[in-house]
Amino acid sequence: MDYDCLFCKIIKGDIPSSKVYEDDYVYAFKDINPEAPCHVLVIPKKHIASMDDITPENSEYVSHIFEMIPIIARKGGAENGYRVISNCGKDGGQSVFHLHFHVIGGTELPLHVFPNK
Ligand code: 5GP
Ligand code: ZN
Repeated sequence: MDYDCLFCKIIKGDIPSSKVYEDDYVYAFKDINPEAPCHVLVIPKKHIASMDDITPENSEYVSHIFEMIPIIARKGGAENGYRVISNCGKDGGQSVFHLHFHVIGGTELPLHVFPNK
């Protein structure tokens, strides 16, 4: 628990959220500013700041997240597929520094967008 972290406060229930799924390792909730009909944020219940901070000691949280994403995506309304995104660091566009995976779907998504292409 990081007392200054928005997503740690959401896990604790100090800030309300719309829960999609929860177990001992993972919390999943609807993004406050959805970019598709299904836009769920999936986070570890342990404070890990970003993709850069995954280690052998905490990676069980991450592997469990990936085991649960197919179930979470369907619970969140993605029936026919979905996309998983994790923004990392300044250039990656990360705005909340508690590791999270965006699970986006519920509609046919545009093809991948890369800069300069
Ligand atoms: P990032 O930009 O770090 O990849 O993603 C952060 C995400 O968190 C954004 O999509 C943003 O809409 C979402 N977000 C920020 N604050 C809150 C909040 O208080 N509640 C919820 N449910 N989502 C939030
Ligand atoms: Zn945190």
